[in-house]
Amino acid sequence: MSERLDLLSEIAQEARKLGCTEADLRYVDRRLEWVTVRNGRLQTCSDLSDAGVGVRVRIGQATGYAGCPSSDPRALREGLARAVAMAKASNTVTYETMEFAPPPAEQGVYITPTPGGDPFQVPLDQRIDRLSQLASALKTDDRIQVANASQVMMRRHTLLATMHGSRIDQTITLNGGGMSAIAEDNGQVQQRSYPKDFEGNVLQGGEEVFDSLDLPAHVDRIREEAIALCHAPPCPEMRTDLVIDTDQLGLQIHESCGHPTEADRALREELSLAGSSFLTPDLLQKEFKYGSPEVSLVADSTTPLGPGTFGWDDEGVPAGQVDLVRDGIFRGYLTSRATSKRLGCDPIGACRAESWHSEPIVRMVNINLEPGSGGSLDDLIAGTDQGLLIQTNRSWSIDDHRLNFQFGCELAREIKGGKLGQLYRNPVYTGITPEFWGSCDAIGGLQDWRMWGWFFCGKGDPPQIMHVGHGTAPARFRNVQVRAS
Ligand SMILES: [Zn+2]
Repeated sequence: MSERLDLLSEIAQEARKLGCTEADLRYVDRRLEWVTVRNGRLQTCSDLSDAGVGVRVRIGQATGYAGCPSSDPRALREGLARAVAMAKASNTVTYETMEFAPPPAEQGVYITPTPGGDPFQVPLDQRIDRLSQLASALKTDDRIQVANASQVMMRRHTLLATMHGSRIDQTITLNGGGMSAIAEDNGQVQQRSYPKDFEGNVLQGGEEVFDSLDLPAHVDRIREEAIALCHAPPCPEMRTDLVIDTDQLGLQIHESCGHPTEADRALREELSLAGSSFLTPDLLQKEFKYGSPEVSLVADSTTPLGPGTFGWDDEGVPAGQVDLVRDGIFRGYLTSRATSKRLGCDPIGACRAESWHSEPIVRMVNINLEPGSGGSLDDLIAGTDQGLLIQTNRSWSIDDHRLNFQFGCELAREIKGGKLGQLYRNPVYTGITPEFWGSCDAIGGLQDWRMWGWFFCGKGDPPQIMHVGHGTAPARFRNVQVRAS
C-alpha cells in the first residue's frame, strides 16, 4: 500500500477529533483519451487527465463534501476543514433524518486484467493510422459522405481510505471504439455503425478489447448496408413481433431497467435528467410483475469485461450480484449506503463518482439480462413466423417515470416464415416498460450473449458521466408497435 494511502488514512482519523462520525478520503487520478478520424482527417484528439482528492465527512445528520485538486497534507487538511464546515452548516437545515448503513471496513487491491497490454502504451500515431485506414476503407464508395472511426480509452486509479478502516487501491482500464458510415443516395441519408452507435463498444480490459472488435472485418458490410438503407422502404406502421439484437437491447435495459431501479430516483431524491421512477418501494412488497417469467435482470459488478466491474464501489462496499428482476418479478434496487438504509436493505455497492471533484451517487454497475433457452440469434429468427429483426440504436426517448419509451434504430429486416427478408429504413418501436418486458417470450442463450459498454451515462446535478455495462443475448418480444420515424 502506498504512502499516499497512509496519508489519506491518517487524515481520515484526524476527522474524528473534529466531531465527524465518518470520513472518507478518495484520491482519483484519471486519464481519458478519445481519438476520432473522419474522412481521412483527425477530427478529435482529446487527452484529458486530472487528479485530486474528494473528502466526504458525516456529522450528526448531514454530510459535507470537498474536492481538493492537490493531495499534499496541507491541501487535504484544508479540504477536510471545508467538508466539516459544510456538514455542520447542513445540520441546521437538514429536513429529515438521513442515516447510512454501517460503514464497511474493507482492504484490498483491484486491477483490471489487460492480457493484450496497456492501450496507453500503443503510440498515438499508430492508433491514428489504424483509425485512418478504417475510415478510408469505409469511404471507397462516393455515396458514403461521412466515414468515422474512433477509439476511447480511460484509466482511473483510486485510493480510498476511511475513518472506519477501509484501505482500497483500484486501477480500472477501459478501452474500445467503433466506426460508422453515413450514405447519401436516392434522396435519403442513412447511417450504419459497428459495433454500435456513438462511442462504439468500450469495455474493461487492455489492447485485446480493441483487437476483439475486429473492425476491418465489418467495413464492407457497414458501407453496403448504409447504401442499401437509402433504397429501402420505410418501416411499415403495425404491431408485430420483434427480435431485438444485443446492441439495441443493451440500451433498452439501460433506460427501462437500469435507471428506474436506481434507489435515489425511486425515493424521489434524484429528479433531474429524466429523473424519477415508476418502480416505487411499495412495488417491492407487492411483488410487482415487471416482465414475463423469462426475464431476470441482475446488477453484477463482477462480470468479466464489464465497464461496471470493480472490487469495491466509491463507498468501499464490495462488488457483488443482486437481483433487480427475477423470473419477471421486481426484486431490488441499485443502492448506496444512504438509500439502502432508507429502504431497509443492505447496500449493494452501486455508489460511484465520476472523479475526485464529484460526490459518489447511485450508479448502475453492469445490469445484465440473464441468458435464456432461445438459442442463437439465428434460432430466434428461425422460430419467428412474422416479425422484424431490429439492430443498432439511432435515437431514444423515455418519460420521467421510465414507462413510455420510443427507440429509433438504424435497421430493420422483415422476418417471414423464420427467414430474413425485406430491409426497412428508419424503424421506431414504442412501448410501456412492464408491458414490453411482459411480452418477452424468448431470450437467446450464452452463445450470443454479449457485454456492451456505455461510457457516457449522464446523471446528477451537477451532471456526472459514468461507464456502465449491459450484458445481454438477443430476445424476442411479441406484438410490439412499430412505425417509421
Ligand atoms: Zn444513462
